[in-house]
Amino acid sequence: DSVFAHIDRAPEDPILGVTVAYNKDPSPIKLNLGVGAYRTEEGKPLVLNVVRQAEQQLVNDRSRVKEYLPIVGLADFNKLSAKLILGADSPAVQENRVTTVQCLSGTGSLRVGGEFLARHYHQLTIYIPLPTWGNHPKVFTLAGLSVKTYRYYDPATRGLNFQGLLEDLGSAPSGAIVLLHACAHNPTGVDPTIQQWEQIRQLMRSKSLLPFFDSAYQGFASGSLDADAQPVRMFVADGGECLVAQSYAKNMGLYGERVGALSIVCKTADVASRVESQLKLVIRPMYSNPPIHGASIVATILKDRDMYNEWTIELKEMADRIISMRQKLFDALRARGTPGDWSHIIKQIGMFTFTGLNSEQVAFMTREYHIYMTSDGRISMAGLSSKTVPHLADAIHAAVT
Ligand code: PMP
Repeated sequence: DSVFAHIDRAPEDPILGVTVAYNKDPSPIKLNLGVGAYRTEEGKPLVLNVVRQAEQQLVNDRSRVKEYLPIVGLADFNKLSAKLILGADSPAVQENRVTTVQCLSGTGSLRVGGEFLARHYHQLTIYIPLPTWGNHPKVFTLAGLSVKTYRYYDPATRGLNFQGLLEDLGSAPSGAIVLLHACAHNPTGVDPTIQQWEQIRQLMRSKSLLPFFDSAYQGFASGSLDADAQPVRMFVADGGECLVAQSYAKNMGLYGERVGALSIVCKTADVASRVESQLKLVIRPMYSNPPIHGASIVATILKDRDMYNEWTIELKEMADRIISMRQKLFDALRARGTPGDWSHIIKQIGMFTFTGLNSEQVAFMTREYHIYMTSDGRISMAGLSSKTVPHLADAIHAAVT
């Protein structure tokens, strides 16, 4: 008998499992709105022109080799990533108070940051929003932190529960870590206003709560890299410390390249360099050093003015297409006279709409309409096209009537 005979089958991942189910469905009308991956109007994955260009340039450069990167990754990539999120003229970057390490996309950056905090920070409790991306509690628990939630979403208004958020952070123990979605909150698509961010900042600084930003969608929410980075920059501008996990999966379409960065903004250059020395001790036994290709693509684009500009144009096109899908879906439900107030579809921001559909309605839409989405009613707007909006609107209409 196998020495593994006792092992139970684990359930599929709640998000990636949606794609597994979708792939098994032979229906020609099936539609996958589960995973957050951008699709064109033709429903195809997109490789940005500027990414193709950068890859060509890398291939043509015969001096490039496949040696190991340092433990912290590609130096250019790290510097440019810090400037991208904190601003080109960020004083924290200029004063060398920021340590940035290349990690395995957003997830890997969160994990490395979590493990660093579990080893070296005095407070082991991290507060995550309710709800949040399903992987957050798992990543931080396995990193060795203790996870608690703060109120975030109000189902009644399909908006922010700002009062609840302030109360919960206000009663968190001094020094606790707080995970904040930098923009385009996943799964709700609900972000605080800039005025609300300012109140959150004041409250958190007054209680010495440590901000850990998850920036998985910079540029994807509004179409502007700077606008989407503003909450992070507000926290850095006050001189206080914070962590930021960045992902290039969505905004450069580099999902499978696994390219991201963890930055820790410190009070002094000396602290930052000691922090970096300890980050290396977290990374070395975990995966030794990060992969070279994706980071080279990103660095090539970020350091070349023309390529950078072309990237911002392509990024805005993706963001605008998603925004137009919101309007189309909203109009389609209006046209059908679907009961309910669907204005949250156009008010929410980023890749997802938190529809408010319950798990039975979702199951109905999958069974009868071959539409795949997570059971919490989240749909990826990036997976929709003008051609598929009517089918989705029919399904939602049937599910709620
Ligand atoms: N954080 C959030 C909020 C996300 O939505 C995602 C991607 N779905 C990630 C982090 C990490 O993604 P990746 O590891 O692919 O960069």
